Amino acid sequence: MEQIAARVHAVRARIDAACAAAGRPVGSVELLPVSKTRPVADIVAAHAAGCSRFGENKAQEAHAKALELAGIPGLEWVMIGHLQSNKAKVVAEFASEFQGLDSVPLAAELDRRLQAAGRRLDVLIQVNSSGEESKFGLPPAEVAGFAAALTPFDALRVRGLMTLALPSPDTEQVAACFLRMQQVQRELREAALPGQSYDELSMGMSGDFELAIAHGATVVRIGTAIFGARG
Ligand SMILES: *Cc1c(COP(=O)(O)O)cnc(C)c1O
Repeated sequence: MEQIAARVHAVRARIDAACAAAGRPVGSVELLPVSKTRPVADIVAAHAAGCSRFGENKAQEAHAKALELAGIPGLEWVMIGHLQSNKAKVVAEFASEFQGLDSVPLAAELDRRLQAAGRRLDVLIQVNSSGEESKFGLPPAEVAGFAAALTPFDALRVRGLMTLALPSPDTEQVAACFLRMQQVQRELREAALPGQSYDELSMGMSGDFELAIAHGATVVRIGTAIFGARG
């Protein structure tokens, strides 16, 4: 438990240093701890170290944790990565944000479920910035058209973009993914669709978050550097 707190503080220090190195204000990058597969005790430990939003990638698991920790005020649950449409109902019930929207049918289903629940959901559009076939997300060239198709869904608040960069030791190739994200963000800002904003760039994980911060990330999603290796 103390180890988790120590790692939260260490990651925060690295985020602050990366902000300073990039000439960005300290505090301009959100640390989103990714607690998938981890027990609720780990979440409680990270919460004690100052974290209140947690990233999860499986709807059922996240919902169970949300129920179990409902007694802690102010906890928020962020779904990250690809989501199947049949999970839209449960996500609409408890999540505060979804970083991984990549299809119109999923958007329609989420909107329908959110309207029924009287809730709204912040969403980030997932972009396949690496071009790998195995990756979810939209090709960069299709993001603007996709964003336009989301405007009828007013329970969804588009706030930016999310990506997983190429997992590679070649920092130039990883940086190229982040630069593509900035390019897509510029295109969206020019299109300026009603009700949407694109300020959030969720990019960077345990292995590449400093590089992501150097390229404009506003949210970094950190699992193993805080909670240790997943079993
Ligand atoms: C698991 C996961 C992370 C965290 O990855 P680490 O390398 O453990 O920091 C970030 N983003 C997504 C979408 C994930 O599924």
